[in-house]
Amino acid sequence: MPRRRRGASADVALPPGAALPVRLTPLSGETPEGFAGRLATANAMTWPELKASFTPAEVRTLRRPLMIRGLERAAGLRPSHFQVARRRHLLFTVCHHYGWSRGRCGTCDLVDSPRSGCRRCAPDAPTTIFTRGGAVCVRHRRWRHDGNDIGVSHLPAYAHAEAMASGWLWFHGVTLHTGEIDLATTLVTSALTDDDGHRRQHRLAQLGLDDGDPAATPLLLYYPEIMHLACALTDRAVASALCTHRESQERQVEMLIGLTAGACDGAPTSELAGLAVDQIERTRAALQEAFSMPSSKRARVRRAPRPKAMIEAAYRHDAPLLRHVDEVRVHAPAVTDVKHPSGSRTVSRRIQVALNRQDAGRSDSSASRIIPR
Ligand SMILES: [Zn+2]
Ligand SMILES: [Zn+2]
Repeated sequence: MPRRRRGASADVALPPGAALPVRLTPLSGETPEGFAGRLATANAMTWPELKASFTPAEVRTLRRPLMIRGLERAAGLRPSHFQVARRRHLLFTVCHHYGWSRGRCGTCDLVDSPRSGCRRCAPDAPTTIFTRGGAVCVRHRRWRHDGNDIGVSHLPAYAHAEAMASGWLWFHGVTLHTGEIDLATTLVTSALTDDDGHRRQHRLAQLGLDDGDPAATPLLLYYPEIMHLACALTDRAVASALCTHRESQERQVEMLIGLTAGACDGAPTSELAGLAVDQIERTRAALQEAFSMPSSKRARVRRAPRPKAMIEAAYRHDAPLLRHVDEVRVHAPAVTDVKHPSGSRTVSRRIQVALNRQDAGRSDSSASRIIPR
């Protein structure tokens, strides 16, 4: 919740329906919650004071559309500003409204989990965004993740990595919160455990950070390598080769180790080998389940639509690679006793569950909800 700035105060309470004296322009893809916090701070108000400037119809309930309408009017924005902005940043997902093909669905209305906005773009107060892209502000070349503000303009690899995040990965429905980046981060980190911390120390020095700095997360230190690996893993041909039962499991483990070591110039450590075995086993089991998933509880012969079964199996086994498989290139023998998928609406929103799970588990305090409901 926005607090009053020290030494500043709202002169008089604004009457309901009044426009605020200080106006701000929302960032691209800024959340209404983040913008409300910034707007209140800029006007030296608390959230209750800002809420008092809403009309009775706007404050009758704090349900999202009404709050947005009140915010838009108070800030002098055009009506439906936030709705239009949200449409521009819808996630690429697979859903039943488009026959289980990938696209941006206005009915499902899924956007990425909020993450910290750049502190140079919004210097007045912390804010949150759900725009496309990753953890770097391309305008200021600053690392903005987790509320940090670290310069990366002297490291071109970070700009290239961000281009991958807002390009290839975005169009494949991959964000920092959908699971693939977490997988790549774990793999890259495990491939660099044998170099006595040399790579870590080098990157810390490049970024001007101390060893114990809480900002020095694996995502920051190895961002270029992680994005490089994530792009490779989400390629349809690569993901399919890593999942299909036409290849042996040993060969697939070797492929995953080789891809990881190649992406980060690391080594095939025992830790990486263990992770690769676990991931390949999990992905193969998920594919086998997808190939055998019945269409309904009573179905004996009829199978669920393959893309729907893939999404459901990826969710059940926590195997994000399965979301990128080309169903024509893969094969798995049938198994019995596979549970039928949930309803189409539920399966279409599986990625939202993954986003929420990530949202609940992360430490990004500035990306937590700013406005209490
Ligand atoms: Zn949809
Ligand atoms: Zn910026």
